[in-house]
Amino acid sequence: MEAKTKDLWVFIETNEDGTPMRVGLELLNPGRMMADKQGGKLVGIVVGNNVAPTVEQAGIYGADQVIYVEGPEYQHYTTDAYTKALYYLVEKYGPTTVMIGATNNGRDLGPRLSSRLQTGLTADCTSLDIDEETGNVAWTRPAFGGNLMATIMCPDHRPQCGTVRPGVFKKPAEGENKAEVIKEEFHVAPEDIRTTLIEVVKEAAGELVDLEGADIIVAGGRGVGGPEGFAPLKELADLLGGVVGASRAAVDAGWIPHAHQVGQTGKTVGPKIYVAAGISGAIQHVAGMSSSKYIIAINKDEDASIFNISDYGVVGDLFEVVPALTAEIKKLKA
Ligand SMILES: Cc1cc2nc3c(=O)[nH]c(=O)nc-3n(C[C@H](O)[C@H](O)[C@H](O)COP(=O)(O)OP(=O)(O)OC[C@H]3O[C@@H](n4cnc5c(N)ncnc54)[C@H](O)[C@@H]3O)c2cc1C
Repeated sequence: MEAKTKDLWVFIETNEDGTPMRVGLELLNPGRMMADKQGGKLVGIVVGNNVAPTVEQAGIYGADQVIYVEGPEYQHYTTDAYTKALYYLVEKYGPTTVMIGATNNGRDLGPRLSSRLQTGLTADCTSLDIDEETGNVAWTRPAFGGNLMATIMCPDHRPQCGTVRPGVFKKPAEGENKAEVIKEEFHVAPEDIRTTLIEVVKEAAGELVDLEGADIIVAGGRGVGGPEGFAPLKELADLLGGVVGASRAAVDAGWIPHAHQVGQTGKTVGPKIYVAAGISGAIQHVAGMSSSKYIIAINKDEDASIFNISDYGVVGDLFEVVPALTAEIKKLKA
C-alpha cells in the first residue's frame, strides 16, 4: 500500500470504560518527535465504546488529530473487529507509520493488521527514531535472547508498523487540546466476529503492582536468598512510597510473583529511583530498567556489572545496607 500522507499514527487502546491505556499516551511522546522530524501530523487512533475520555486525552497529550471509531462491538477487544476497523482506517487515510502499544491486545492486533496490509512489523520495540530523509522508522528491539539490540527498518512497504513496550517512554506533558477530531462510522456485523466473549475473568493476581507507573522501585534478585529476603526491600519501598521489583532469577525461584519482574520478559520501567539489591546486572534485566533516572546498586561483588550502569553503588551485604538505609531515611523523615 502507498502512503498517502506523512502522518504518523498512534493507536491508543482503550479500557472497557473508554479511558486510555497508558502506553497509548506514552507513544505520543516519541510520536511527536518523529512526526515533527518527518513533517507529518501526529494522529491518535481510537477504537472502542464510549471513547470520549480517550479522544480528549489524546488531544491533551499532543495529538494533532484524533480519528475514532465507536460502537458496542468494540467494547471488548476482538481480533476481527479491531483488525477490520484499523484496516478500514489505514486504507482510507494512508498513514506512513502505525505504532501500537505492546499490550496483550496490541501484540495480537499489530501482526494481524500488518499481515493484512502486507507490510512489516517490528514487535516489542524499546527505542525509536526516524530517518528524516526517507521517513524510515528505526525500530530497535532486543534480539538473540536480549544479548544484542537490533534496529530494524521497513523501507519498501507502507505503512511501517511496530509494537512498543509499555513503560519505555514517558507520557508527554499535558498541553492545550488543539486536536482536530474525526468520527468515522464503521461497524462490524456480529457474524463477522468469529469469537464471542462469554465472560471476563480477572486474574486472581493477588496483589497488583504498578511497576510501570512507579517513581521509586526497590528491586531484589537472587541475592535476597529467598521469599523472606524481600521483607527489608518492601519496608524500604513502603517508606519511600515505592514498589518492589525483582529479577527473573528471584521470580523463577518462586520467591515473588511474576508481576514484579523487571526486564526483557518482565516489565520495562523508568522510575526516578531504581534500587537494585542483590541483582548482578544481566543484560536482560538491564533492558527493562536502564532508563531509570537514578540507579542505586547494592551488591556484595564489586565486579558485578550492575555497577557499570549505576549512579550510586554500595559494595556490601544487602541485609546490612538496606536496613541501614531504611533507618537513616526514617531518621530524616522524623
Ligand atoms: C530470553 C531471556 C530473557 C530473560 N529475561 C529476564 C528478565 O526479564 N529479567 C531478568 O531479571 N532476567 C531475565 N533473564 C535472566 C538473566 O539473564 C539473568 O539470569 C537474571 O537477571 C539474573 O538475576 P539476578 O541478577 O537476580 O541473579 P544473579 O545473576 O545470580 O545475581 C545475584 C547477585 O546478587 C549478589 N548477591 C548475593 N548475595 C548478596 C547479598 N547478601 N548482598 C548483596 N548482593 C548479593 C551477587 O553478587 C550477584 O551479583 C532472561 C534471560 C533470558 C535468556
